[in-house]
Amino acid sequence: MLHPENSSEYKGLTVNDGVEQPSIVNPYLQRGRFARRRLTAADYVEGILKGNVTILGQAVTLVESTNPDHQAIAQEVIERCLPYSGKSVRIGISGVPGAGKSTSIDEFGIHVLERTGGRLAVLAIDPSSEKTKGSILGDKTRMEKLSVHPDSFIRPSPSAGSLGGVARKTRETIILCEAAGFDKIFVETVGVGQSETACHSMVDFFLVIQLAGTGDELQGIKRGIMEMADGIVINKCDGDNVDACQLAARQFRNALHLFPMPESGWTPKVLCYSGFYGLGIKEVWDMIFEYVDFVKANGYFEHRRAEQAKYWMYESINEQLRNGFFQNPTIEGLLPRAEETVLAGQKTSFVAAKQLLDTYFSLLKQ
Ligand code: GDP
Repeated sequence: MLHPENSSEYKGLTVNDGVEQPSIVNPYLQRGRFARRRLTAADYVEGILKGNVTILGQAVTLVESTNPDHQAIAQEVIERCLPYSGKSVRIGISGVPGAGKSTSIDEFGIHVLERTGGRLAVLAIDPSSEKTKGSILGDKTRMEKLSVHPDSFIRPSPSAGSLGGVARKTRETIILCEAAGFDKIFVETVGVGQSETACHSMVDFFLVIQLAGTGDELQGIKRGIMEMADGIVINKCDGDNVDACQLAARQFRNALHLFPMPESGWTPKVLCYSGFYGLGIKEVWDMIFEYVDFVKANGYFEHRRAEQAKYWMYESINEQLRNGFFQNPTIEGLLPRAEETVLAGQKTSFVAAKQLLDTYFSLLKQ
């Protein structure tokens, strides 16, 4: 339970669509007909539970904000939404740039909304956005049909912070979306190492999009993606590319035989499709539904979610310890000198690290 004084309801923050704006707005505007009411945590929760996507979007902006006051309110909203979350199917979609993720997500999304109704949220984890300060993944302009669909909510990757921080924010956004009644969640990520692991650790089904004839087949095996994939789909199976796709699919199926049976008991499937021409989309969804039925029946669905919750607890501990250490002013002051001594070979990395950590922990005791 949060103490009332720590509650954002008592802070009376003004939160509108840009949370980085000052909280004190022009008093005339506040009284005028364009006044924005101050939203409390309770307002956010009420709006989210009613399925209001404007409020949901604003709450996600709070989750992504680095401002400690916004973070406090965001954590309160998440905590209150938690009991209403979890009732969705979360699907990770990964592929190298150009694999056809956005084209496919548009088609997959429209298909599943027509087939089952409900609501779909498209989120993203984009490690490159930290450098570019702008995320492409999950961008509305890339998903023409979904972006105008009344039952979809598209949110680009949060762009600030480490991969761990970005992934945490995506995970928290999943909770808010589920509380807002989104029963299908896509988490898009690019096919480069760590971000796939982060994506895999928050979804029920991990779909890997591959292309034929690019040598990706082998790279995929090397990077351990085969172990993570619940389904591998070869995109652009159209025109002159059909034979190459079918060959790639056979290679993947053969390669899958080399891996031990996954814990889920489900043998990953390999399918060909064309996102651009909308071919084979139904079969991809048939596979996903079949998987969900299968793992719900054998108990693995719940088991995987519980394991993920545990994983994220440790990730949060790691992140907070790291942030506490690196943001400590004394440590910040000592780091450059420590770096120099290690570079000059005057101390080993281990000794330098140990001394800094000892200093940090003794500071905590004071
Ligand atoms: P992303 O970078 O993974 O999101 O890939 P995009 O969806 O932006 O697609 C990259 C390019 O591949 C675009 O020019 C698409 O038109 C094209 N593309 C995507 N899906 C298909 C497909 O099924 N068949 C063909 N022939 N081209 C496709």
